[in-house]
Amino acid sequence: MKFFIISILFIVILNIYCQQVEDIVQCNDIDINHEKLEQMTIKEQEQFVKSILDEYDTNITSLAYITSLAEFQTHLYLNDSSKRRTTDKYYEIYRSCLKTIAIVARRFQSLINNNQTSIRWLLLRTQAIGDAGENNTVIKLEMQKLRSRMKEIYHRKFIWNNTQLGIDEVQEVLGKLESPDDLLSLWNAAYEVAIPMRDYYSTLIAIQNQQAKQNRLTDKTDLTTNIEERRIVEQLWQELKPLHRLLHAYVRQQMSKLYPELIQLDQPIPIHLTKDLFGSMMTYLVKDILPFPYLKGIDLGPAMKQENFTEEKIFHYADRFFVSLNLTQVPNSFWNLSIFKKIPNRHMACHPTAFDMYKYDDVRIRMCTSLTSRDFYIVHHEMGHIQHYLQYKSLPFWFRRSPHGAFSEAIGDAIALATMSPTHLKRIGLLENYTLTR
Ligand SMILES: [Zn+2]
Repeated sequence: MKFFIISILFIVILNIYCQQVEDIVQCNDIDINHEKLEQMTIKEQEQFVKSILDEYDTNITSLAYITSLAEFQTHLYLNDSSKRRTTDKYYEIYRSCLKTIAIVARRFQSLINNNQTSIRWLLLRTQAIGDAGENNTVIKLEMQKLRSRMKEIYHRKFIWNNTQLGIDEVQEVLGKLESPDDLLSLWNAAYEVAIPMRDYYSTLIAIQNQQAKQNRLTDKTDLTTNIEERRIVEQLWQELKPLHRLLHAYVRQQMSKLYPELIQLDQPIPIHLTKDLFGSMMTYLVKDILPFPYLKGIDLGPAMKQENFTEEKIFHYADRFFVSLNLTQVPNSFWNLSIFKKIPNRHMACHPTAFDMYKYDDVRIRMCTSLTSRDFYIVHHEMGHIQHYLQYKSLPFWFRRSPHGAFSEAIGDAIALATMSPTHLKRIGLLENYTLTR
């Protein structure tokens, strides 16, 4: 019996060990016999390339998985430098694999140049590897160093009004302040922490622009977007601009009633008065600037507390909402592996983030949620990212990223906006006695 138990234990341990070893896969360069390739028909060439990329797909997916696992842990233990080092090590292997694949894919230039081939876009996507393409190890290390210094500064704590605050706590305090002097002083204190980042950031951008020039591009913008994308964005912006200007003017005019000394009607709105650290959301202004003052503002905080909401419950509501739109339900593992609230006494990253771990349907969110209208919105936004991951999970690795950062952000926002409508909030029982009439 004893021997039996020991054998079982041994097998389990061996399995765990093998699992770990198996995950760090090789990503080898391969030689292409161009003579043989030229004798193939286009169809055969495509199949040949597809089989190569399929194999690389398995490798890079495994590497992305272990790298994301390590990254997720790093975010949960910001004080643990060994976790950061492990993540950096995996990133290095991951980036080197991306680069190997890009080099191999470039050898099929004739297929990339051929507009008629179905494999063309996949081959093109393998080339979008950013910094991973850098050959010079000194420059590579320099970029890594700059990034980690900026990250460290971003999370530095500071003292304001005898209270120690970190970047993740500032927003909640800022939202509750009323006095413009307090708003300005907290905003300044938070941004002062970031000042040393300026030089690191300029250096990083200068290096990236230099890299782009070496690739015969104008600058980093050219590396991350293409002409077609820029044209579409410019066109969308021109279409939206009149509405944006009207909305901005309206908000500024309403705010000038609150702060007559501080808001000038022909000048930009001072950012600290938006009560948003980045000046990007107007959640905290809503009660002061919305038209129709006889309408009560929607504050979900008290309703959620009354209904004994937990942080996780908001995510369940969001999940049900996505399913009601005939979209995909999150997998069971999501509920076990995500972090929905701040872990007490732990220096951890709190900025709401959705993770695609790239394997086993593993998708997660890490968020220090609070029971407020703002976080109710943000939860739906983050679940929008998760939905995006679930929708593209069966595509080849290189298509499993947003074609553009803004696209991914827009999915969550479009859906989150719908969930904040009084009709929906009433339906789920979070808004009672709300009427749109006087
Ligand atoms: Zn987002």
